[in-house]
Amino acid sequence: MKLHNFNSGPSILPQPVLTQAAEAIINYNNTGLSLLEIGHRTNWFQEILQEAKDGVKKLMDLDDQYEVLFLHGGATTQFMQVPMNLLDTNATAAYCDNGIWGNKAWKEAKHFGNVQVVADSSDRHYQYINKEFTVPADAAYLHITSNNTVEGTQWHSYPTTHIPLIADMSSDIFSRPTDFKKCDLIYAGAQKNMGAAGVNLVVVKKSILGKIARSIPTIMNYQKHIEAGSLMNTPPVFAVYVSMLTLRWVIEQGGLTEMGKRNLAKSTLLYNTIDALPIFNAPVAKEYRSEMNAVFFLNDAALEEPFLALCKQEGMIGVKGYRTVGGVRVSMYNALPIESVQIFCDLMHSFAQKHG
Ligand SMILES: *Cc1c(COP(=O)(O)O)cnc(C)c1O
Repeated sequence: MKLHNFNSGPSILPQPVLTQAAEAIINYNNTGLSLLEIGHRTNWFQEILQEAKDGVKKLMDLDDQYEVLFLHGGATTQFMQVPMNLLDTNATAAYCDNGIWGNKAWKEAKHFGNVQVVADSSDRHYQYINKEFTVPADAAYLHITSNNTVEGTQWHSYPTTHIPLIADMSSDIFSRPTDFKKCDLIYAGAQKNMGAAGVNLVVVKKSILGKIARSIPTIMNYQKHIEAGSLMNTPPVFAVYVSMLTLRWVIEQGGLTEMGKRNLAKSTLLYNTIDALPIFNAPVAKEYRSEMNAVFFLNDAALEEPFLALCKQEGMIGVKGYRTVGGVRVSMYNALPIESVQIFCDLMHSFAQKHG
């Protein structure tokens, strides 16, 4: 049976990326060595790292004011590393709490300084993005989560601020053309839309660094990573390679314009299907809906289990909602073909016919 991979993360990757990554484990570029057996300071790896960094800058259209780092620890480490580098003990950082990831982010920041949650959408189960807020003029930075993976909401354009804007883009990085220049620091765990688990992309505008009094442990210090060219210690070589291959694939396919077109087509098809079938409902209003992760429910909760069972039986992988949210979540990252969404929608139609 053909499987359709709607996993929320780690998630679907392009087939050519998987094939090349598999070959590289056995024999990297006809060197006779596995990629897992070569040093991170070899020319081989330097070229991989350089292509990955160049790919990021090209896709984001950023100049040399920004540096690209590939770091360990996943996005969760950035919840701590951002305030450790940018928030002085007596200063205040502003956070938007629009989902469980943004909520975790500000709680980690409290270890380092003061936090002001300027916008909070937990009053309505995080089913919208509260955009009516003011930021204290002297805040160190404003932190947002560009796409709320669990709740299925997304910032379709970023807030304008006079202070540095930090964005956790873990689940919508490189999914569409967007104004990366509005951000002073962008981070993303690779395993949703950019590669394999184990590496974290950090893109930082150099001018925001070096402004606080705290002494920062070397391995946590962005400035030191920049000086070391992302090679302070052994980077996750294989995970960086998979990210590089995925970035290369995105560029070859036509870049972010093409990704944006495909993702809009997929998400429009799915949301239109949900909206057209009265047995389902999507709780997020149109203006906040995520193109990456669609969350919806069955109006008759008793039908949820049979629907998920049917999905499983038909090879639809990873569509059960997040454990604290329930319902159905369909993740449609870059590598997911529209055919998978079409087949899923056909299944929704036939289920609705039977149970409507
Ligand atoms: C998955 C996710 C995280 C956590 O990423 P890890 O790499 O597991 O630490 C953080 N933020 C967002 C928006 C996510 O989707």
